[in-house]
Amino acid sequence: MLLRGYKYRLRPSKKQKKILLRWMGACRFVYNCGLAHRSINYQQWPKSVSYFDQQNALPEAKSDPELSWLKEVPSQSLQMALRHLDTAFKNFFRGTGKYPQPKKKGMHDSISFPQGNILKIQKKARKTRSILLPKLGEVEFIHHRNFTGKVKSATVSHSHGNGWQMSILVEEADIIPPNKSEETVGIDLGVARTIAVSGAHPDQNLPVEQIKRIEKRIAVIQRKQAKVTRFSDRWKHFRRVVAKLHSRVSRIRKDFLHQASSNLSKNHGVIVMEDLKVKNMSKSASGTKEEPGQKVAQKSGLNRAILRQGWGSFRTMMEYKTTWYGSRLILVSPKNTSRRCCQCGYTHEGNRQTQAEFLCLQCGHNENADKNAANNIRRLGLESLGCEPLEAPAIAC
Ligand SMILES: [Zn+2]
Repeated sequence: MLLRGYKYRLRPSKKQKKILLRWMGACRFVYNCGLAHRSINYQQWPKSVSYFDQQNALPEAKSDPELSWLKEVPSQSLQMALRHLDTAFKNFFRGTGKYPQPKKKGMHDSISFPQGNILKIQKKARKTRSILLPKLGEVEFIHHRNFTGKVKSATVSHSHGNGWQMSILVEEADIIPPNKSEETVGIDLGVARTIAVSGAHPDQNLPVEQIKRIEKRIAVIQRKQAKVTRFSDRWKHFRRVVAKLHSRVSRIRKDFLHQASSNLSKNHGVIVMEDLKVKNMSKSASGTKEEPGQKVAQKSGLNRAILRQGWGSFRTMMEYKTTWYGSRLILVSPKNTSRRCCQCGYTHEGNRQTQAEFLCLQCGHNENADKNAANNIRRLGLESLGCEPLEAPAIAC
């Protein structure tokens, strides 16, 4: 059994929008109270509060006359807000997330409905379906994509940039049969190339030019915005446009990561990737060692900035997609992968002349630096599987 998410554009009525926004506010309230509760306990004594402690406190909160408005919201949705908080804390303690922050109104507003068995979906028109949400009734959505399987939960979200969206979590029975070469590939999240793939396989590149164009437009609008009175209608209009453009950039990035991870896990039997910790990534981002100075091409800077944000989610995508498509993901240590020559094994700082170019000081092997790294990563993966690497001999010096 596999869980897959499908995202749809939701079309609530005016009345439903009002109710949903109110409910999202209640979920945010519960989340923030839960966070405050945990923070006090976290600071004052090392006794942790569990999800169940907080869930059990909910009925009591609802019986408080001042909080009676919480009763209007489906209780499972309020519990889900506490579950999300619990997950955020688990990620924090695991070292994969920051300390949970209070939710702000208008920022990632969402509400989850975990009662999959009652979320009935009905056909309305060719491209329109409706979903039955508890205490709310039928809500229409644009059905641009089909799925087969059992609905487990639905999450409705709202933001100015993306409008109303709903993601449905579906339990799907079968793994898509593997239809791919058994060949092992190494991939490097690069600087000059977004994702370099070892050997003769095509690299996966982000549509950098498109993003640059949008970012230029954002800059233009922000300059205009700076000239008008703050919080005036005109100013608010500019703010909306900027938010829309920002979310378009993040959609492009997400699309790219989804496409790249699907291509890789569909087409290759074994994929080897560097095991970079999220922490290390942010260190090198602000840091000094990896940054070669001021002369990094703008394009590389952009690639880097975008991957810095997307790296964690790309890895997660690779993890679940390799399961879907029946391939295997292997993580190897990133040590020396960018300094080692993939042809003769000579490892030296000087091999990497520039960010983009690799030139071996011993054998003269010349290649794109990210491609060279991807080849090294592939070899490490084969070694960890106990396979003899085919072309690259063992380290010579
Ligand atoms: Zn060499």
